[in-house]
Amino acid sequence: MVEGPSRLSALAIAIVVAGIALVVSIAFIAGGDVATVLYVAPIVLLGTVVVSVALKTRGGAVRPAECWNCGGLVSPNAPSCKHCGASFG
Ligand SMILES: [Zn+2]
Repeated sequence: MVEGPSRLSALAIAIVVAGIALVVSIAFIAGGDVATVLYVAPIVLLGTVVVSVALKTRGGAVRPAECWNCGGLVSPNAPSCKHCGASFG
């Protein structure tokens, strides 16, 4: 059941790494200036982190699901509440 969140985390890391690689390659193609990389990298890095966090939040992987009946924390994939037995249909 932990497969989903861990896969999303790996995706988030992949997005950040790809963003860094993209920025470095673009900067070197554009001018080969190290200063440009240092200026642009933090901005793009921040952007990729925000995007990856947004993706994780939208996927609902950050927090476990909450039972509509008793409010207990349950697995998002669970068919019923382990606390009160309410069905998640
Ligand atoms: Zn419940």
